[in-house]
Amino acid sequence: AAMVKETIRVYARVKPLGRRQQAGSYSVDDEEDSLSSLEITVPRDLADGFVNNKRETYKFKFQKIFDQEAKQDVVFDSIAKPVAECVLAGYNGTIFAYGQTGSGKTFTITGGAERYSDRGIIPRTLSYVFDQLEKDSSKMYTTHVSYLEIYNECGYDLLDPRHEASRLEDLPKVTIMEDSDQNIHLKNLSLQQATNEEEALNLLFLGDTNRMIAETPMNQASSRSHCIFTIHISSKEPGSATIRHSKLHLVDLAGSERVAKTGVGGHLLTEAKYINLSLHYLEQVIIALAEKNRSHIPYRNSMMTSVLRDSLGGNCMTTMIATLSIDKRNIDESISTCRFAQRVALIKNEAVLNEEIDPRLMIVQLKKEIQDLKDELELVTGKKRTSELSQEELLQLDELIKTFLKDNDPDSTLDVGADMRKIKYCFIHMKQLVNHPIISDKKLLSQDISEEENNNKESGEELEKLKHLLHQRDDEINILINMLKKEKKKAQDAVSQLNATTACSSVLEQSVSINLEDRQSPSSCFSLKEAKDFSSSIHRLPFLSRQTGGKMSLGSQEAFEVFKRDHADSITIEDNKQLLKQRFAEVKCLGEKLNEVRSKINRLKGEITQRHIQRAALAVSSPSEELNMFDPVEEKLRMQIEEEKKSYKTMFNRFKGLKVEIEHLQLLMEKVKMKMQKDFEVWWSEEAKNLQQEKPEMVTSPNTVTVYPRFIKSLQHLSANSFSETTRVSPNEDPDGKNNSITFSNPTLKTRTPPSASTSIPLTGDSQADADILAFIKARQRILQKKGKSCQ
Ligand code: ADP
Ligand code: MG
Repeated sequence: AAMVKETIRVYARVKPLGRRQQAGSYSVDDEEDSLSSLEITVPRDLADGFVNNKRETYKFKFQKIFDQEAKQDVVFDSIAKPVAECVLAGYNGTIFAYGQTGSGKTFTITGGAERYSDRGIIPRTLSYVFDQLEKDSSKMYTTHVSYLEIYNECGYDLLDPRHEASRLEDLPKVTIMEDSDQNIHLKNLSLQQATNEEEALNLLFLGDTNRMIAETPMNQASSRSHCIFTIHISSKEPGSATIRHSKLHLVDLAGSERVAKTGVGGHLLTEAKYINLSLHYLEQVIIALAEKNRSHIPYRNSMMTSVLRDSLGGNCMTTMIATLSIDKRNIDESISTCRFAQRVALIKNEAVLNEEIDPRLMIVQLKKEIQDLKDELELVTGKKRTSELSQEELLQLDELIKTFLKDNDPDSTLDVGADMRKIKYCFIHMKQLVNHPIISDKKLLSQDISEEENNNKESGEELEKLKHLLHQRDDEINILINMLKKEKKKAQDAVSQLNATTACSSVLEQSVSINLEDRQSPSSCFSLKEAKDFSSSIHRLPFLSRQTGGKMSLGSQEAFEVFKRDHADSITIEDNKQLLKQRFAEVKCLGEKLNEVRSKINRLKGEITQRHIQRAALAVSSPSEELNMFDPVEEKLRMQIEEEKKSYKTMFNRFKGLKVEIEHLQLLMEKVKMKMQKDFEVWWSEEAKNLQQEKPEMVTSPNTVTVYPRFIKSLQHLSANSFSETTRVSPNEDPDGKNNSITFSNPTLKTRTPPSASTSIPLTGDSQADADILAFIKARQRILQKKGKSCQ
């Protein structure tokens, strides 16, 4: 198999400083064609606490360093694109981000939650991959994605549809199974098919949202867990039995900060220990991989290293991004991140193409080849070849055996040619002779045959060659059938090991079914036209069912409205809403233009038809006129059509781009809103808890009574919902489309709309609601007080 040898590429990215952060001393030496170096200077006095004017300088080499102002598209182009290309060519690839919490791992891998231009490596890679697949019609591709979170050495499927109501801990755990060939299978990790960019993006957002929901303030899972988003691609050339599988892992590692700094006791300490342990094991694997002559690589020590086993050393194009938060207080963490990166850079990898022969397809191919050979043989010999030897051939063989047995020359051989049937016959005959010498001998001697000469030597040779080939193929088929049987058994064994009751299909089962799908519908590779509207997809954001309705009391609903207004994220939502509006206007305008161009093309076509009719009529009325004469008018019309089609294509591409952007923005907004609701729930329950302690005085406090009417007013004022409805766009790619036109189908409500209470809340009656309101008022006062203080 093809092989590519290279070291792991290691890049660095420096996060922009926050407002209150003070830059540490560092410099970037960026050379065009060689490695870049990063120099970090530690003021000794600062580090040690006593005065010492000697400064210590550390220097680290990287493939390239992206300084604070580097944008996401540049990062994607230099880091991820080359890996994506390898994966498209059939190699495995891994990109992992390593660095302390807050250094920009998630920003780099997934992207920021606010701007479309902030989207990170995963969405950009998906976009790039699907673009490339769409362009390549020489192969048939199937794409799946999976999204795994590893937290405290346990794996969770972020795409598990059951996520909505559960905490991470309630979900079935993803576990590692190793088969007899030491291949890793992940039980309970679903592989979701994604036929286009849109579907894949939806899955990514679904996973990210699930990740966020599972995270409570007590388990800040995002900094303590590893997340692995994997794109699985299989490709096959039409008619070929060889399937290429490749995987691209995009890994957002847990924060690399050391335990001492986390400085927390109890529960969190166990977690901190765990993250450090698994990063420690990752480091051990990396060190082992970098050492020459090291035969044992300790992959099995942690879940993370087991999962990345086939994608870290060896068979893989691996890239690491060291993310650095280079402010003064984090200098030491930055240095330890860089040190890790330098060790990683020592690993040499050999990437191998993941090709696999599908025995079933191979059998079909070989059968066909055999039939062809048989046909050819028949053509050459003029005889039909069967598995039986002909009477004539049998007699010929008997004669050969007879001569052989009679021959006293010790060097004499029995040469019947490379025909298994003849060889077998000879052996059987000999056996009979040995067992029943008399009868056989008699039979043999009694036969008197005239030898038939083969006078056509050339065709005889060819015949032998073909027969030989035929024979080889027979053997191959047998081997393949055995292989197939073995595979089947292995799969069965693994499945039974995997506990048949698993509701969620495992990777193993999936991979079996993927193969089947491949075979049954080879044309089912993705195409824009066939792509389903994803709003009907079953994976569509299950958290929508986690709405406010029913769960929240009236009081907390109202409070949520106010909370929303005060929440910092509402600015983002507003901004994005404006941007969305603008994009919608653009899309609408483009859509209209596209329709115009389409009807123009149709009009031009109509004119051509008219021309044809006219000329035909002319030919009838004055037959002297030549009908086939070149028509400059028609030629001009055709050129015009071509022009229009070109501009259609350009506009359509822009249209498609806008559509992706709109989808993305919608998903971003949804995510921010989810976050806001979560923040609210946390805040609300805390306030409620506080209230429990203060309740007695509150109820009698005259203060609340005076605040109350104003509060109701402000609520009424706010009750109008601030979230807008959004429209879905469904374009049609085909400019010649007969009856399709660009349409704006009607709003699938992608945004959550908390039921707005239009009536004021009665203070009497429901004691729960009253308590909620009072809690809210109290809390709001507290916020206002705080705000007042911080403003001064
Ligand atoms: P990590 O995942 O390593 O804990 P994050 O990616 O969450 O860190 O980054 C922490 C914060 O810094 C986030 O608010 C993120 O948006 C911001 N951030 C990180 N890197 C950049 C960058 N290159 N440009 C702008 N903002 C960034
Ligand atoms: Mg993160």
